[in-house]
Amino acid sequence: MRKAIYPGSFDPITYGHLDIISRSRVMFDEIIVAVLDNSAKKPLFSADERVSMIKGLVKDYDNVSVATFDGLTVDFAKKVDASVIIRGLRAVTDFEYELQIAQVNHVQYPSIETVFLTTSLSYSYLSSTVVREFASYGGDISKFVPDEIIPLIEAKVVRKSR
Ligand code: ADP
Repeated sequence: MRKAIYPGSFDPITYGHLDIISRSRVMFDEIIVAVLDNSAKKPLFSADERVSMIKGLVKDYDNVSVATFDGLTVDFAKKVDASVIIRGLRAVTDFEYELQIAQVNHVQYPSIETVFLTTSLSYSYLSSTVVREFASYGGDISKFVPDEIIPLIEAKVVRKSR
């Protein structure tokens, strides 16, 4: 039984994240989307709001569940008995940081592997930050996130003038 966690901030979840979830769920028996409860980072959405948004979007995936965690990602992986941590790589700029974290984690718990999926070309530019920025200027975010969560994002962002 191959259980994997896909950790991140998901503030908010985007089509880039959903692409990684749908591709990784066929590689593993079970995926837990692990939402970092990072109040120190002052997220736009609370951890509970992020969890409920993601749950709605992955409801048809029978092997995907959603949970929150705080502290070290490897500790959460260990706690839920996952042997794999999934991360997405968009560009070389992601690489150095991700490599370092993966190596530190591997030293901590050699039995847990980090697996990187490269982003689909169509989402390589996409990040939660881009979504928040775009929405705050009243931009059209329908190519970035599913329609269901657009009103939630638009209601949360502090509108700046264009
Ligand atoms: P974090 O703060 O941990 O980077 P994010 O929510 O920004 O959390 O991202 C979670 C994971 O999803 C990371 O591995 C990130 O590289 C990946 N990711 C984010 N956006 C995309 C995208 N457009 N395509 C592929 N992977 C992505």
